[in-house]
Amino acid sequence: MGRSLRSRIAFPIVILIFIITSIAGVAITLYFNHLYLDFIHKNLLSNANIIASLLADTRLEIDAQVIKNWANILGERITIIDLSGTVIQDSHMDPLQMDNHLSRPEIQQAIQEGVGFAQRFSQTLGIEMVYVAVPIRDNHQQTIGYLRVALPLQNLRAEQRSLLGTLIWSLLVILVITTILIVHTARHATRPLEEITHSISKLSSAGFTSDWKPKFSPEEHSVEIDRLVDAFDYLTQQIHNQIRALEQERNKISAVLQEMTDGVLIIDGDGVIQLANPAVTKMLNLSDQNLIGKTISQVLPHPQFFESWQRTRNSKETQTSLIEIQPKKLYIQCMTAPLETIARGTVLMLLQNLTRQRYLETVRRDFISNISHELRTPLASLKALTETLQEGALEDPPAAHKFLMQIEKEVDSLSHMVSELLELSRIESGQVPLRLKPSSPYEILQKAVDRLGIQAERAGLKVVIECDPNLPQVLADPSRLEQVVGNLFHNAIKFTPAGGQIILSAKTQNGNVLFCVSDSGIGIPAEDLPRIFERFYKTDRARASGGTGLGLAIAKHVVEAHGGTIWAESVEAKGSKFYFIIPQA
Ligand code: ADP
Repeated sequence: MGRSLRSRIAFPIVILIFIITSIAGVAITLYFNHLYLDFIHKNLLSNANIIASLLADTRLEIDAQVIKNWANILGERITIIDLSGTVIQDSHMDPLQMDNHLSRPEIQQAIQEGVGFAQRFSQTLGIEMVYVAVPIRDNHQQTIGYLRVALPLQNLRAEQRSLLGTLIWSLLVILVITTILIVHTARHATRPLEEITHSISKLSSAGFTSDWKPKFSPEEHSVEIDRLVDAFDYLTQQIHNQIRALEQERNKISAVLQEMTDGVLIIDGDGVIQLANPAVTKMLNLSDQNLIGKTISQVLPHPQFFESWQRTRNSKETQTSLIEIQPKKLYIQCMTAPLETIARGTVLMLLQNLTRQRYLETVRRDFISNISHELRTPLASLKALTETLQEGALEDPPAAHKFLMQIEKEVDSLSHMVSELLELSRIESGQVPLRLKPSSPYEILQKAVDRLGIQAERAGLKVVIECDPNLPQVLADPSRLEQVVGNLFHNAIKFTPAGGQIILSAKTQNGNVLFCVSDSGIGIPAEDLPRIFERFYKTDRARASGGTGLGLAIAKHVVEAHGGTIWAESVEAKGSKFYFIIPQA
């Protein structure tokens, strides 16, 4: 993470102030040193000149005590040296123990220039000293010796140290005060930025929906900050609008996907499902509801889905295949298309459920084959009968009469079938008006038994009516319902071997009346059960049994025209139960 803006502003300024005050401190110290030395030099020189003038007419014969007194008064060391360099008097030392001073730099300079200065460590006193030497001249201006005054530099060093101490303290105080000031100013300058950052992070976590504007105190406002806030406000509005537009688009697409009956899948290059609509799970009866994140081979129940996806991913071409899923008997059309715009290798898979179309096709095919079969038998028999007549049977009146009777029977059965078909299509298209009126369920069952009871008796079957004569009435066209019960009863007679039993019953159920015709006959194979209400459908493939296969189709349409439902339950070799429901009057 980078350093904060505050420290970026404050740090260089503090460093700069430190450097400036340090340089200023050093310059002041050097200048003070120079001034002090200059002052000492001038002071020493004027003292030296005064003392030299006092010694002008002494011929250097002066009492040692006088020199010591002067030295005490001035606080300086005084040395008198003759022309040969021999020390004659010294305020601080015994002259006899002092060596020749002619070679001393200050004396040499005084000889050559009239005044000599030096600053060095005194061998004699063992401390650092400043020396000034001047010639001593007699009244005739003849140099008779040299006077040297000296001052220890200890004082200067002490002064220097104290000055340096004061300077360092001042520097530190300046540094601390300026640092506090700068940090405070920097904080003040950067606070609006922190406030803006805080508001923006709050805004993005709220999905750009809340009011984001930061709150500033009046002194925190500045032209730059106000401009930044305005620019960001504009940007926020734009983002907010775009998010809203995207959300609306997404909602539309997701609503379409949710409601679509076709399955839609988006699969990435690794075969992982990125999107799947509910139609996929519904269509394929998948137990797994959440397909996203799983691979297609994990989820989809047939290897052909995987192969289809793989082919499209590799060839980048659209593929269409028809997949049959057993044992669910599903026919799925699978279309795969490359979706490279999303990502490399992405594939769109569209699933269409063609099971119903397939079923309808089968029904249509079977219908045509069944109706042809139903027509062919009587037509072939008619053809044979007419040929027999033509070939001479006409000459034999009794035989001709028998053949004509047979022709009549075949024509009757054909016209019966045609009229049944016509009636069925009329009921189906709603052309048969139902004369609805409250009708007694008991009477409806009783009439069917009256009509077909003898036939059942001849077939050796026992017929029972289980119905309360006072059962609530149903709202129905009684002749039509008698036709329904008649058809069911007729089938029961046909498909129940002698000795069996047929029960016709009716009872109330949830505001409706539930009718049932049950028999102890041959029953219906489970695979045929869903199809027996189709036109011409017969469980007997050879179609040897009598009947056209239209009876149940007519019954179904009549019941449905009454707003009811019809269904059958059956166990092979045990018997069948046909139920239908009619609303109460
Ligand atoms: P059909 O005129 O052939 O009886 P239906 O439409 O009435 O025509 O019946 C269709 C088929 O359903 C019959 O051919 C028969 O195979 C089967 N079926 C109908 N009722 C029964 C039943 N009670 N017991 C066994 N099979 C039945």
